[in-house]
Amino acid sequence: MKILVKAPAKINLALDVLHKRNDGYHEVEMIMTTIDLADRLELSLLEQNQIHIISQNRYVPDDQRNLAYQAAQILKDRFGIKQGVAISIEKTIPVAAGLAGGSSDAAAALRGLNKLWNLGLSLDELAEIGSEIGSDVSFCVYGGTALAKGRGEQIKELPAPPTCWVILAKPFIGVSTADVYRRLDVNAVTHPNIGAMVDALHHSDYQAVCRNVGNVLEDVTLNLHPEVAQIKDQMKRFGADAVLMSGSGPTVFGLVQHDSRMHRIYNGLRGFCDQVFAVRMLGDRNKLD
Ligand code: ATP
Repeated sequence: MKILVKAPAKINLALDVLHKRNDGYHEVEMIMTTIDLADRLELSLLEQNQIHIISQNRYVPDDQRNLAYQAAQILKDRFGIKQGVAISIEKTIPVAAGLAGGSSDAAAALRGLNKLWNLGLSLDELAEIGSEIGSDVSFCVYGGTALAKGRGEQIKELPAPPTCWVILAKPFIGVSTADVYRRLDVNAVTHPNIGAMVDALHHSDYQAVCRNVGNVLEDVTLNLHPEVAQIKDQMKRFGADAVLMSGSGPTVFGLVQHDSRMHRIYNGLRGFCDQVFAVRMLGDRNKLD
């Protein structure tokens, strides 16, 4: 028996860090939305009681470091499952890019294994389990658009953003999320207006969405990697309505509504960057599987 699951990337329309907590995590407020750029996972039952990860991408670990492996392991431990599984990951989302690729693979593995092993768990239960794997996994279990609080695991659903194109450009560098958080000084940053972004989404106001994008981690990564600032400048120059780094970077995304401008930005950036994509937002939860 085989199950195919889609694992879409996310972007942060807004990302704020409030303070560092006593448990070492940062208290965050993030507005996330899934985009139509996805890995594909194929899950198949194995005779042997093993978890087997298969991926052609050399940056994707094929052992217990893989977040999809960890998802399978947690379910096996918690529900005493003796069946094995082979998880084949066809990677499209750039790795270590600020697009939650690993977290989304883990979330897709949880959704798929819930079916493959007939566990009958709700999305809320899967999201709760996902939060033990990583802070972004809970959001990725639901997909769509949401405000994430706490260390990212408290999810409140939001309306889909107004229709637009998302152009993503990733320079040829990887960024360590832990390193960026370590270097962040929450008292020395401009905080995005999360409330204004929530209102913009409720009013489906594209201009207000564009005005209120913001990410407190941006300056940290920009200081470490000046090429990220160059990509931001290029996108603005080519006419993007809003430009922001996603997560801890280094991927930069631009928003536009007009097809012609999307093509101009996409073609203009292709010469500069390792990976460039132009995709739609998925927006709603029900667009997931
Ligand atoms: P986030 O936006 O959640 O911080 P990211 O997009 O920056 O995540 P990932 O693509 O998830 O980063 O990869 C970060 C690291 O996680 C990689 O360097 C890789 O070693 C490890 N990893 C574990 N599982 C996976 C997976 N399924 N796909 C990609 N990387 C994975």
